[in-house]
Amino acid sequence: ALERAREAMARLVVDVPDFPSPGVVFKDVTPLLADHEALTAGVAALAEAGRDDDGATTVDAVVGMEARGFLLAAPVALALGASLVPVRKAGKLPRATHAVSYSLEYGEATLEIHTDALAPGSRVLLVDDVLATGGTLRATRELVEACGAEVAAVAMLMELTFLPGREALGEVPLTCLTSV
Ligand code: AMP
Repeated sequence: ALERAREAMARLVVDVPDFPSPGVVFKDVTPLLADHEALTAGVAALAEAGRDDDGATTVDAVVGMEARGFLLAAPVALALGASLVPVRKAGKLPRATHAVSYSLEYGEATLEIHTDALAPGSRVLLVDDVLATGGTLRATRELVEACGAEVAAVAMLMELTFLPGREALGEVPLTCLTSV
């Protein structure tokens, strides 16, 4: 699955220069989502991050970060037989939440999780499309820990290695299907 996913990503992820702002090269994964075989391979490769060598699921829940993380976390959770939990931007979740704010290049962002979304002690796999500065990842890890749960692993389609995103994780294993 990993080789097929990598080949599909090289073919289908589109670089969009100067989106959403000048100087940023946006990695558009929507053509990959639209290709059934590519998405199947990508989801299978991400799900490996939540399995041991015997193929047994090692996580209780899969957390997807808004918004593209949702699209990948849902099929990964189904593949693993794990629960699916959204981490959302401020003001979207309707019940009691934990919130973490973090700084962006311009201004601040806040992410939230329902306080009862994760059972204390549960093991969590975080899923998103692109790892850039790691701000989203760091905030999401804090939210998981605020629930008393633990980030067991992280899986991303793509890592931008010219940014220090990986440092947001410390010792947690990180699976990125491709690096640029
Ligand atoms: P960061 O918090 O900087 O690691 O950014 C991660 C979040 O922003 C992820 O949810 C990505 O979907 C999105 N993102 C950041 N940079 C890019 C990029 N160059 N192309 C596509 N998505 C990006």
